[in-house]
Order: sequence, then C-alpha cells, then structure tokens
Amino acid sequence: MLPRRIKQFTFMAQDIRDTVILGTGCAGLTAAIYAARANLKPLVLEGHEPGGQLSITTLVENFPGWPDGIQGPELIERMKLQATRFGADIQMGHLVSVDLSKRPFALNLGKETVHTRTLIIASGASARWLGLPSEQALIGHGVSSCATCDGFFFSGKDIAVVGGGDSAMEEALFLTRFATKVTLIHRREQFRASRIMLERAMGHEKIKFLSNTAVDEVLGVEQKEVTGLRLRNTLTHDESTLPVSAMFLGIGHIPNAKMFQGLIDLDDDGYIRTTDQVFTRVPGVFACGDVQDRRYRQAITAAGSGCAAALEVEKYLEEHGR
Ligand code: NAP
Repeated sequence: MLPRRIKQFTFMAQDIRDTVILGTGCAGLTAAIYAARANLKPLVLEGHEPGGQLSITTLVENFPGWPDGIQGPELIERMKLQATRFGADIQMGHLVSVDLSKRPFALNLGKETVHTRTLIIASGASARWLGLPSEQALIGHGVSSCATCDGFFFSGKDIAVVGGGDSAMEEALFLTRFATKVTLIHRREQFRASRIMLERAMGHEKIKFLSNTAVDEVLGVEQKEVTGLRLRNTLTHDESTLPVSAMFLGIGHIPNAKMFQGLIDLDDDGYIRTTDQVFTRVPGVFACGDVQDRRYRQAITAAGSGCAAALEVEKYLEEHGR
C-alpha cells in the first residue's frame, strides 16, 4: 500500500470555485487530474463510497499500464496522489441539495454552501447487493459484482451468478470462459433478460439455471472465502446447499443521481442522460463515468469520460469567463 499522503482539508471559504467534481472514483479523479493540471484548482467531493467501485475490487488486470495488475484501492490512491499533486482539493462532503437554476451553482453540503461556475457529476452507480450479512462479509473474497474484474480469479472453479436480467446473462456467459460450471440463480420463473441473451445463456453447455431460487446465506465467512450458498426454493421453501467458489451479483446497479431528479434529464432507470458523452441539458454541468454510462461501466471508460468532462469544463470557462 502507498503511504497516505493526502491531507484531510478543512473547507476553506473561497468565493466561487471554477469547478467542483462530485465523486472520487475513476471518472471523478481523472477529471480532477485534468482540471488541476489546467490550474482550475478543483474541489473534489468524496461521498459515501470513497473511491467508487474500484475501491471494492481486488486485482485490476485490465487497466492499461499495469502489466502485473494493480489492486483497485491502490489504483485509486495513486490517482488521488496524482490529482492532489497538481492542486486538486479532495474533501469529504455530502451533497444535501443543489441549485442549478442560478449562476454560480450552489451546492448545499449541510454545514455550508459551495458556489461553483461549473459542476462535474461523477457520483457513480452502486452495485445492488442482496443485503445478506454473509454476502457483505465476503465481498472481495469470492463475492463480486463485476465479472470482468474478478472472473479470472475463479478459473477452473464452480461459480454462481444471481439475477434474471441482461446483466446476469452477460456475466454468466462471460464467466464460462473461466468456470467449469456457472449456476444462474433467479428468484422467479420469468426473466427480465432480452430473449437473445436468455437463449444464449440457456443454450450454453456450462450454464445451469436454477429459477424460483433465493440465496439465504453465503457460506465461508469463517474461512474468509466463499465455499457455497444456502439456497431456498421460493415456491416450496425447500432448502439446499450449492458448493461454489464465487457468487457474482448481476441484479442491477443504482446510479447515484437521485438528487438531480428534475434538475437535469435522467432516463427511466435514473442514469443521467448526456449528449456528446458528457453534456447534460444544463450548460456548465457535465456528467461522466457510471452515473451516465449503463453500457460499458469499466474503469478505463470512466477515466476517459472524466477526462472529456474536464476538457469541456476548461472550454466552457474559456467561453463564459471565470
Ligand atoms: P434488470 O433488468 O433490472 O434485472 C435485474 C434482475 O435482478 C431482475 O431479474 C431482478 O429480479 C433481479 N433482482 C433485483 N433485485 C434482486 C434481489 N434483491 N434479489 C434477487 N434478485 C434480484 O437489471 P440489469 O440486468 O442490470 O439490466 C439493466 C438494464 O441494462 C436493462 O435495460 C438491460 O437490458 C440493460 N443491459 C443490457 C445489456 C446488453 O444488452 N448486453 C447488458 C446488461 C444490461 P426480478 O425480475 O424478480 O425483479
């Protein structure tokens, strides 16, 4: 681990910020690096899930530049160091409400209000979990919400995927590259997944379907690694045990954009609608990363859109004045 060299700042009253970045995941921190290097002294607000999805991942092997992989939390820590080195001001702060109707924008952080000429929303999307204590205890030890990130670690093992939508089908299909067997567990008989994805998964020799089945417990908390699942048939209530080495959740993501409802456009699932990658309908407000990307959700695509958002902020400030 890197030494923690990031100071906890206390808020310094500054009349108007050039830009405030919401979120310290890959998108927010990349935006911070670019904005800081453009001398915009961005204020970066770190919320309830510091570091975003990467901070709950173990080894990241698909981020360019790390041939041996890098631990997710370390990658985030390094991005923070890179951003602060150029003058980004990273602080804990929870947005209570926001006023985008006036210029500068007003961000209510509870104890104080921050004013800013531009805003980059990089608040991410949180994976939906089952909420079982055993599941939470084993995140990073066989419980994961990201097949592309963690599937490789379970080569030659039996794996379970939970969910009945396209994400679950996609994860199950992806995991067949590594697993000896993938058991797809869904709580109902009907699936939300598109027909093509469902048929593809159902037709795969390595994928076995268990519908009308709920996970009641993830086994292996004492051993600190997943050893199996305690299952319940939702119709008969019969219990059974499924020995697996990993459980992947594919039960959806929740974009962290609720507080922007009515202020900018959100789609039916709450993701921020953007045009040309990062533009929201409010000039000066940009969105990047998982809060507006329901398709790729990768660290590198989040970083790319964070870069784009910061470049647009620079351009906006040049055109509208600081
Ligand atoms: P989704 O369509 O909302 O499906 C979520 C699934 O998880 C549902 O089957 C749901 O069960 C189940 N679920 C939710 N909460 C659960 C819980 N607490 N316990 C057990 N099961 C639970 O979400 P998604 O699959 O992430 O897809 C989201 C959107 O992205 C969709 O529009 C999808 O088409 C799109 N997408 C597309 C692709 C693709 O085209 N390649 C890939 C991924 C996602 P119930 O059905 O019982 O509610």
